[in-house]
Amino acid sequence: MIPYGKQQVTEADIAAVVDVLRSDFLTQGPAVPRFEQAVKAYCGAAHAVAVNSATSALHLACLVLELGPGDWLWTSPITFVASANCARYCGASVDFVDIDPQTYTMCPVALRRKLETAKLQQRLPKVVVPVDHCGHPANLAAIRDLAEEFGFRIVEDASHSIGGRYRGELIGGGAHSHMTVFSFHPVKIITTGEGGMLLTNDAALSERAALLRTHGITRDPARMMEPPDGDWYYQQIELGFNYRMTDIQAALGLSQLSRIDGYVARRNELARRYDEALSTLPIGLPYRDPHCYSGQHLYVVRIPSNEGGGRRAVFDALRRDGIGANVHYIPVHTQPYYRAMGFARGNFPIAESYYSEAISLPLFPAMSDRDLDTVVASLTRALRG
Ligand SMILES: *Cc1c(COP(=O)(O)O)cnc(C)c1O
Repeated sequence: MIPYGKQQVTEADIAAVVDVLRSDFLTQGPAVPRFEQAVKAYCGAAHAVAVNSATSALHLACLVLELGPGDWLWTSPITFVASANCARYCGASVDFVDIDPQTYTMCPVALRRKLETAKLQQRLPKVVVPVDHCGHPANLAAIRDLAEEFGFRIVEDASHSIGGRYRGELIGGGAHSHMTVFSFHPVKIITTGEGGMLLTNDAALSERAALLRTHGITRDPARMMEPPDGDWYYQQIELGFNYRMTDIQAALGLSQLSRIDGYVARRNELARRYDEALSTLPIGLPYRDPHCYSGQHLYVVRIPSNEGGGRRAVFDALRRDGIGANVHYIPVHTQPYYRAMGFARGNFPIAESYYSEAISLPLFPAMSDRDLDTVVASLTRALRG
């Protein structure tokens, strides 16, 4: 089986992890701040908070932006459920903005239209979560203009796009987004096993996220209600969580980070090979914005319903050939949990049409050109019926 995505772990990664295992700290040691330092330096962000998943990072972002009951978070229906669920953890409500048919990211035109209506109804969102779907950056400048006009904060779900660029700016640098979230799940660009990170240029937001990552506990006397009882003393000043990343994970992440540019370059090279090899087939290929550099987490093709028996038939044929094709994503508003809130099929037609045709083809740095040829041959056979 050629999987749709797969981590690459080198001997250097293994040695870095073993070093931590032999050291004094498996968690709360020096590897976590070292990894944070390296990621924020790489992205050009002022602050970074490492956590145990992107899901936790999204939750912390919502908490520090004071999202709560009565508030709204808007995101794209074409994303992993975590981009929406983070609002629900805070007791806030979720709504969606349909995607742009070309980039498959949140459509700024649909966003403006929805904001204008929401303004009249006095239910403007407090937080908007654009998703850099497949690694292609969302239209961040347009969304930032709307953020200034309508007064919401942007939490960019960049789980697919670390190492990518939006109009020359590295993703995570905060040129447009107030906060940026990365995932280090093994299928993503670089991995820590499980893990995530929250980046921002706002010191206060970062400090509070770091506090909530570890139970809301501080050891800083300046933040305590009264002087410490002694060196052992800490105070819990808010209700936080245990969302910490371990040093074992951070060491793996730091080692992986040293290869990130090569990984993203190889992903883009494979994507260009797919573009070329698939150009004569009757399917939709990904849009490539000349002003952006995609993290290229996924390579999604669209199978029109009248070609090769449609998406389902083509998908099944690929799987029969041992191609680990996948689909990203089932529109979040059609999940039973969100349907129970009143969402229904038909609410976001562009997202739903995208979903009905989409297949993610295998794409990962260690994939060989031969693997790619195998995928192309299988897809071509499936389409010729
Ligand atoms: C993977 C992913 C997440 C969740 O990441 P975890 O680290 O598994 O919590 C969130 N959003 C998107 C778009 C993702 O792809």
